[in-house]
Amino acid sequence: MRVDVLTIFPDYLAPLRLSLVGKAREAGILDLRVHDLRDWTTDRHRTVDDTPFGGGAGMVMRPDVWGAALDDVLTPGAHLLLPTPSGEVLTQRTAHAVAQDAHLVVACGRYEGIDARVAEHYRAAGVRVTEYSIGDYVLNGGEVAALVLVEAVARLLPGVVGNPHSLVEESHGEAGLLEYPVYTKPPSWRGLDVPDVLLSGHHARIARWRRDEALHRTAQRRPDMLAALDEGALDRHDREV
Ligand code: SAM
Repeated sequence: MRVDVLTIFPDYLAPLRLSLVGKAREAGILDLRVHDLRDWTTDRHRTVDDTPFGGGAGMVMRPDVWGAALDDVLTPGAHLLLPTPSGEVLTQRTAHAVAQDAHLVVACGRYEGIDARVAEHYRAAGVRVTEYSIGDYVLNGGEVAALVLVEAVARLLPGVVGNPHSLVEESHGEAGLLEYPVYTKPPSWRGLDVPDVLLSGHHARIARWRRDEALHRTAQRRPDMLAALDEGALDRHDREV
């Protein structure tokens, strides 16, 4: 997969050299390119913003600068992703869908955001454009949202996570539940013991315990997720939990 990130703060994306994403880049699984939007400015001050039409506080990013940059970076079939607090909230489902794309272009806004005509223009030109939010709060810029997207998507690419099975039972996966609590050695720590069932070696009982814990946790922390489960997603034992 190729990912281009456009930003006025390229250094913000430096963590993408680390850990699994960094290894995916070294392995050639992920071709990640970070660009300085100011490289597409034409004035002496390398200006990317201007005052908002209609008045009001703050500055808006200019469509001509973004247009020049995106015209250069977009390839046929590329998916343009615009982080914005007014976008659709990014979910694991979105991450799976985006992981199928060959080329992502992420345009990081700053100030009061990017002139609305940028999304409008590329949509009208037939580019797939997704405006996404990473949650109901406002950040200073889209760079953190770009980091979140790249991390969530890259770990789904084949070969990035060493044991693909570890992706199967995770929170927000196919089961639509949060993950059960996990434990490792030592079996007793500061007076707290690992649940006996996990030391029993009895695979069916362990699977049942994990399912029950996932259900309890989801009911307590995210009742909205439980309510959204399809009819038939719960078996008879689940309904007793
Ligand atoms: N005036 C905008 C509004 O109220 O919707 C907020 C602009 S914000 C200060 C500047 C940039 O940060 C946005 O253009 C976007 O790229 C990014 N951003 C802020 N919060 C975000 C969020 N929750 N999800 C994704 N991107 C966000």
